[in-house]
Amino acid sequence: MDSFAARGLTGAVGLAVALTASGVAAQEVNLYSSRHYDTDVALYEAFTEQTGIEVNLIEGDADQLIERIKAEGRNSPADVLITVDAGRLWRADEAGLLQPVSSEVVAAAIPAELRHPEGKWFGLSQRLRGIVYAKDRVDPSEITSYEDLADAKWQGRVCIRSSTNIYNQSLVASMIEANGVEATEAWAQGLVDNLARPPQGGDTDQIKAVAAGECDVAVVNHYYLVRLMESETPEDRAVADEVGIVFPNQDGRGAHANVSGAGIVASAPNEENAVRFLEYLTTPEAQAYFAEGNYEFPVVDEVKLEPVLEQWGDIRTDAVNAAKLGENNPEAVKLMDRVGWK
Ligand code: FE
Repeated sequence: MDSFAARGLTGAVGLAVALTASGVAAQEVNLYSSRHYDTDVALYEAFTEQTGIEVNLIEGDADQLIERIKAEGRNSPADVLITVDAGRLWRADEAGLLQPVSSEVVAAAIPAELRHPEGKWFGLSQRLRGIVYAKDRVDPSEITSYEDLADAKWQGRVCIRSSTNIYNQSLVASMIEANGVEATEAWAQGLVDNLARPPQGGDTDQIKAVAAGECDVAVVNHYYLVRLMESETPEDRAVADEVGIVFPNQDGRGAHANVSGAGIVASAPNEENAVRFLEYLTTPEAQAYFAEGNYEFPVVDEVKLEPVLEQWGDIRTDAVNAAKLGENNPEAVKLMDRVGWK
């Protein structure tokens, strides 16, 4: 006999009751995810096939999901929160929404700098914040570090999105860790002084602005460029053709890397299943799906990179613990405000 399952179809996981014909609750895990990639569906299906645990998915904007878990309180059906950027995972933890997880499987698979020291959350794929440049106006040797962006030679030539964006907050947090608050504030002031226009739009808009000649260099996460490179729209590929990308600080601490990651919710009703799901996400099979969905870098070594990422060769990345990006976030936000970074 078929089991009764209201889940998944309506997205109303809070009301979902998964009962078998005999009235025994079916095995399930409830994911609150700000990711929405086609490969994720294959990922969840493969997990269910291997374990018999059904995956119920609630998708939403990251900050809304965090607010929703808060509002649902102890009755929240949420087991796992999946979102991007360590700064955001840190905020979820600060709000008391996540619980420490000790899993030898996960600890062995994920490098220490990509997970919370107490297991509150885990990085599952990596995104690098690079500098795109106009191929016809900039030689990549001219810009080799984030610090270079404050150099007077870039006056009126830099595009970057708003300081309200978590990616920029985490970049600044990483610079505070590397250079201290004072030096980072002086740098941010220099950057703001060099802007070609007031911050506007998302990372893709910065790339388009470089291609359109509005600015010569811009700071963006690598996958936004890859999306344009791999786009089915000729106009997008034409934009990508106009620009190159530098992964900065290769002679020093490395390019700023951030994570997509997951944590287990403090009130998780299906805690054991949630741990199994997390462990599954560190298998090479799941890592391939997870990273591929957004052209990110897997966190385990055995996974083959997408050819488009492979072509960039070995990239040195800043090994600062991702948790520091969260810890330094409040200081970063204040600093950006002080220098007038809109
Ligand atoms: Fe993004």
